[in-house]
Amino acid sequence: MALPKRRHSVTRGRKRRSHNALKKPGVTTCPRCDAVKEPHRVCANCGHYANREVIAMEKS
Ligand SMILES: [Zn+2]
Repeated sequence: MALPKRRHSVTRGRKRRSHNALKKPGVTTCPRCDAVKEPHRVCANCGHYANREVIAMEKS
């Protein structure tokens, strides 16, 4: 296994990890039923996309 030739500083390690944070996923609401959904995805609640029905949903 490779061994480091020189010890590097705490600051150097922390600087590298400053880019490791995860971004929050984007969320929007459905214009038809106001359910929370991902942008550019069919609404899982009403099955609509761009004001037309894409997935036939069961009537309950
Ligand atoms: Zn919807």
